[in-house]
Amino acid sequence: MPANLPEAAHSTGTALTIDLDAVIRNYRLLQAKAPNAGCAAVVKADAYGLGAKHVAPALAAAGCKIFFVAHLGEALNLRPRLPGATICVFNGFAPGAESTFIQNDLVPVLNSLEAVKSWAKSAKTAGRLPALLHTDTGMSRLGLDERELGHIADEPGLLSGLDIRWFMSHLAVADEPDHPLNSGQLERFGAARARLPAMKASLANSSGIFLGSSFHFDLLRPGSALYGVNPVPGQANPMEPVVGLQAPILQVREIDSPRSVGYGATHSVTKPTKIATIAVGYADGYLRSLSNRGRCTVGRHNLPVIGRVSMDLMTLDASALPARLAKPGTMVEVISKHHPIDAVAQDAGTIAYEILTSLGARYTRIYLGGAA
Ligand SMILES: *Cc1c(COP(=O)(O)O)cnc(C)c1O
Repeated sequence: MPANLPEAAHSTGTALTIDLDAVIRNYRLLQAKAPNAGCAAVVKADAYGLGAKHVAPALAAAGCKIFFVAHLGEALNLRPRLPGATICVFNGFAPGAESTFIQNDLVPVLNSLEAVKSWAKSAKTAGRLPALLHTDTGMSRLGLDERELGHIADEPGLLSGLDIRWFMSHLAVADEPDHPLNSGQLERFGAARARLPAMKASLANSSGIFLGSSFHFDLLRPGSALYGVNPVPGQANPMEPVVGLQAPILQVREIDSPRSVGYGATHSVTKPTKIATIAVGYADGYLRSLSNRGRCTVGRHNLPVIGRVSMDLMTLDASALPARLAKPGTMVEVISKHHPIDAVAQDAGTIAYEILTSLGARYTRIYLGGAA
């Protein structure tokens, strides 16, 4: 862990460290994979739980000019912190919110023919309005379907007054490079694009960037990889870890006769064992599914989670720790280089995205680097 961790973090307890310089290096690495495309940053869900008000300005200072969020509220929070940047909203506008977008210089993603029509209507009074036009090529979620695209192809005047910055779609299985849906989506995207007036295009999320240059188009939209999640599961992670989570041991219990541990008595100790308790629980985003499955580390020592993760606490088998470390105050690494978010997610039976966005607000948060 970083040497410049403030002393207060050691004494007050659990600390979430977010390395903004690592986010910036990850951004540069992704940009370098596709030098002919622009690289945006997806900072929805509070930058995947890491704090958009810290992450987004750090990326802007490093040269990122285009940001994506999911909701209007997220965009409004970021607007004053990102002067001059393009802020795009994946979910577009709710009916009636058009003027808020215009007043705050926000760019909606148009996900339906209805949204196209109402944005074009706003443009009649407001003047030319920017947008992304989204088509569904395999998610069956948001975006215009083929029938709606057909309407626009037959009547391109529907787009008059609109400055469509990018025509976009979203990949469903980019983290599985051999899945046939990737090339299927690429083909559908190309075919849809060919029916419309010429526009720049955007398809790749983090994993999509690693599918090769035919997926890059004009604008990359990475989120998770910026935050250290492995975009190429099964291969070595090309990204730098961004998040660390440390907590001090609160108490060590030495057990020398058979006992159960925790709620539900799901773990039984049958041999002499040292149990360390730390103040991290499911209310802090350490998922309950990590009960009896997760692990933490102290240096090179492994401390398996034993018993159920409870709301505010969890118990670790600290038997491997030498006596000088098996005591209150020793810092335990819950997420670290030795056990990164992807490994925690695997232990929990989920994806790193869910671990990141669950990390709670109760920790001391320490932001490293990020100075312009
Ligand atoms: C969340 C999101 C992204 C970013 O995806 P990552 O897998 O985190 O890189 C890109 N595009 C759309 C439409 C999204 O919803």
